[in-house]
Amino acid sequence: MKIKYKTLLLMLISIVLFSCQQQDAETAKSNEINNKHADQSAPADKEVAYQEDPVKPEPKKDHAKLLGKYAKFRLTSDLTHLSDAQKKMLYVLIDAAKIMDELFWLQSYGPKEPFLASIENQSLRKFSDINYGPWDRLDGDKPFMEGYGEKFLGANFYPKDLDKAAFEKEATETMKSLYTHVVRDENDALKAVPYHEVYAEQLQKAAALLNEAAALAEDEGFKKYLELRAKALLDDEFKASDLAWMDMKTNKIDVVIGPIETYEDQLFGYKAAYEAYVLIKDLVWSEKLAKFAAFLPQLQAELPVADEYKTETPGTDSDLNAYDAIYYAGHSNAGSKTIAINLPNDESVQLEKGTRRLQLKNVMQAKFEKILMPIADELVVPEQRKHITFNAFFANTMFHEVAHGLGVKNTINDKGTVRTALKEYASAIEEGKADILGLYMVEKLHKMGELEEGEMMDYYTTFMAGIFRSVRFGSSSAHGVANLLRFNYFSEQGAFNFNPETGHYAVNAEKMSAAVASLSEKILTLQGNGDYEGVALWFKEKGQINQELADALARINSKGIPVDVDFEQGVKYLAF
Ligand code: ZN
Repeated sequence: MKIKYKTLLLMLISIVLFSCQQQDAETAKSNEINNKHADQSAPADKEVAYQEDPVKPEPKKDHAKLLGKYAKFRLTSDLTHLSDAQKKMLYVLIDAAKIMDELFWLQSYGPKEPFLASIENQSLRKFSDINYGPWDRLDGDKPFMEGYGEKFLGANFYPKDLDKAAFEKEATETMKSLYTHVVRDENDALKAVPYHEVYAEQLQKAAALLNEAAALAEDEGFKKYLELRAKALLDDEFKASDLAWMDMKTNKIDVVIGPIETYEDQLFGYKAAYEAYVLIKDLVWSEKLAKFAAFLPQLQAELPVADEYKTETPGTDSDLNAYDAIYYAGHSNAGSKTIAINLPNDESVQLEKGTRRLQLKNVMQAKFEKILMPIADELVVPEQRKHITFNAFFANTMFHEVAHGLGVKNTINDKGTVRTALKEYASAIEEGKADILGLYMVEKLHKMGELEEGEMMDYYTTFMAGIFRSVRFGSSSAHGVANLLRFNYFSEQGAFNFNPETGHYAVNAEKMSAAVASLSEKILTLQGNGDYEGVALWFKEKGQINQELADALARINSKGIPVDVDFEQGVKYLAF
């Protein structure tokens, strides 16, 4: 899943009890404000009703400016270590992914063409393509073209005239299924039609392509997964393929494909939308992670907190890896782009096998170059900007993931798990913990000489710049608040200073190091004590944006710095 929580499992999954909620734009899909479609009518040959084209879509706003929300970035990866068969397989997988793209258009809006072809303005056409329809996904799904009303919350998953309350009461399990469309039959009664029937033609093609890819696969696990996934597309039974996906450890290529996330169904969140990612494993980082994980017991023992808060054994067997994405399709490619994947969503598979976490390195690089760097150029003192590096950015992100394994999962005073005790604050505190302990790990490993690349100042400065990116869209999400708490804490400790005359922030390395230790201690203590009141008070007092930061963020927003990225992708961009 796109980094969300599955609370029930927290006690059962051995290491990472809390998957990471990605920040700001990355969570835009789940945060989108709900809207409604314009009136629609069903084309005769389809049971699922699509959006009707208005007579003449005309530009309504400055579309070059709208398009400026997205920075272009090319998806590529080093393919030199792949065999000819593996390279050939990439073509096949990308073709299969394109079918998911077509299906997502149908689920979200309706047929891609002639909709796009009818738009004359080039910027507007491109922006519509990025949004998979005439609604702006980065602006609460507001229509950006004349002739369209608000987006229907249920997209094309349900009839547009659905009575929400009645449906909740009367819907059958099949109607609530992840993998059915709800339509009206000839008597106007609701009925559920499985995806594999609605999209039979396209899914046959996609399954055939996955089988073709399986025939080219050199890795036995990957081959098995592809075959099972092909079968699953045709009967909507995904568990066997999910289990097979969990068992894959050595494949250099990966693909996530099918109806997976439910964010596009803003009416109920029942329906999964089609998407795909084609991925190349980063073998260098995989090795590094294995090496660093071995230090976890030692790092746990050295945590800057009293002994009773570090009695648990840290997890070291996490299934965490780095990848380059070479193709996004469907839901994953619509609007904001995720930088990490945590799957599968099926809780029964999670109970049996856990989840896999995939960090998408080149997509993070895209956001680093196109968004974080321009922000840093505005807000960080010129002499420290050289310390903002992608190496540090990526390392901070990876160590955040590993750091979820440190600390305690259970309170030390019989209040049960930390998650239960801290209730609605649990996620934000856990993410805040991983952020700060990630930096603590970097410090330790750097001192030990295990982290060869870059100076400590790179990690600090990049960390600070990362906070600006994360709070750019305010404090509406739990993670946004966690970032503000940290920002305000660092400010108070003098870890960084603000110069009101230039509007620039500067890191003070010595005070930063002290603040990393004391903030780690504060969070670990709150967690270990299950101190709900203490956390609530901290959030209330320090979870706000102060005026100088608000001014700084307003300055960034006025500069037209992109909000997200749009990919140039496909085989023509890959160096085979
Ligand atoms: Zn996290």
